[in-house]
Amino acid sequence: MAANSAPASTFKYNEKPVYTTSNGCPVENPSKWQRVGTQGPLLLQDFHLIDLLAHFDRERIPERVVHAKGAGAYGEFEVTDDISDICSIDMLTGVGKKTPCVARFSTVGGEKGSADSARDPRGFSIKFYTEDGNWDWVYNNTPVFFLRDPTNFPLFIHTQKRNPQTNLKDATMFWDYLSTHPESIHQVMQLFSDRGTPYSYRFMNGYSGHTHKFVKPDGSFVYVQIHLKTDQGIKTMTNEEAGKMASENPDFATQDLFEAIQRGEHPSWTVYVQVLTPEQAEKFKWNIFDLTKVWPQGEVPLRRFGKMTLNRNVENYFAEIEQVAFSPSHLVPGVEPSADPAGCQLPADPGQRPLKAFNPYQRDGAMSVNGNYGANPNYPSSYRPMTYKPVSPTNPHEKWAGEAVTALFDDMQPHDYEQANGLWKVLGRTPGQQDNYVNNVAGHLCNAHVDTRRRTYQMFSRVNPELGSAIESATEKSVPRL
Ligand code: NDP
Repeated sequence: MAANSAPASTFKYNEKPVYTTSNGCPVENPSKWQRVGTQGPLLLQDFHLIDLLAHFDRERIPERVVHAKGAGAYGEFEVTDDISDICSIDMLTGVGKKTPCVARFSTVGGEKGSADSARDPRGFSIKFYTEDGNWDWVYNNTPVFFLRDPTNFPLFIHTQKRNPQTNLKDATMFWDYLSTHPESIHQVMQLFSDRGTPYSYRFMNGYSGHTHKFVKPDGSFVYVQIHLKTDQGIKTMTNEEAGKMASENPDFATQDLFEAIQRGEHPSWTVYVQVLTPEQAEKFKWNIFDLTKVWPQGEVPLRRFGKMTLNRNVENYFAEIEQVAFSPSHLVPGVEPSADPAGCQLPADPGQRPLKAFNPYQRDGAMSVNGNYGANPNYPSSYRPMTYKPVSPTNPHEKWAGEAVTALFDDMQPHDYEQANGLWKVLGRTPGQQDNYVNNVAGHLCNAHVDTRRRTYQMFSRVNPELGSAIESATEKSVPRL
């Protein structure tokens, strides 16, 4: 077997594998190179040298544009409660059924070496290796998001990154965008509460945010939102604790997850679904496809159906977590996207191997490391028939009619501020949380340009006048005097 296809873990520690070049050619000494004389220049004809340097130059792949800093582990999902009345998904059918998975948690805006404790939403992605293919849950630790129109995503993300001129994070860019796109206010309420700085990945919830459909073979369906609630309890850091942790141990959340699993403390999450029938959805107060809104839990109760437990660390971080790719379009029979305008297509990475997959019409290209479907025909050949299994109902569930228009999706109505105010009141239930919120915003907003600050105060005042004036007063006191 060639050295580059034999992972280190296939050798036992007491074995002495023969060191070779990447094509398997034995090498006498890994530090001996062809050169002119004993101390002269190196010779480019030395394949071992070029082989090593060429691979070294390519050791780092470009980091993700978002969610670059992450940590993850393997685990399993177990069905704990029967939901067969609303669902025919194989992975969720049969109490006690277990499905293996891999999870990756991340911050969003920072680079790969940035601090785990940054104030930022957290990515909460899971890939389930189901009997019907891989099902990816590409979730966050907040139930809402900054945008309801996904086309704004690249522009929004740029404002949370570095200023093109100064190469610094820029409070004016950050708040300029948010205050001119007030549909983000509900997420801003989440982000600057102490839940915006989770203690570590084990102590936060995950939410689908987007609305999906659970579809039955008879063509009937319900709309769903999924919640994963941490069994460890919510634990957060204050702004000060998070800042201190960023300098003392920027990898704290990564370390915490790895070490807890090594100790046998396997973190778990109880998984719930919120369900609305199409009839209920039509009459619902909120647009159920609006990613800046939640479905109030008092009106749409959470229904428990499973538990996800992380119980095994990876052998190789780069291969198994850095390279793992999640796509919202990786769905399985029985779950479908809804009219939620979410949209993202990532190509299926060959490393994301499902339990069973057979598609010899997709072959060649980069990283064809799985045998490339051997001699199987690359078209539907009558000499090599395949089995075709019907997997989902073909009836259309929704009727669409409309003219193609170029439109803004983000016009704000007064009721768009209601849920943000709802969270402000939720914070008021725990002593100190509202004060922390105001100080967390002020400590960041004080660095923005005065015009942006004023516009941001107006945005918060539309949520709640008391909140707007508290933020204005705390922020203006903190403005750096040059
Ligand atoms: P409820 O009173 O029924 O629920 C309040 C929810 O707020 C809790 O269940 C908890 O969510 C969440 N929460 C508690 N403390 C905080 C905090 N410091 N930061 C962020 N979230 C917190 O009210 P509603 O369902 O009517 O929601 C009221 C507000 O709560 C919403 O406007 C929304 O901002 C927020 N919220 C709602 C969620 C939902 O899906 N309905 C989920 C999360 C937040 P959890 O149980 O998930 O921990």
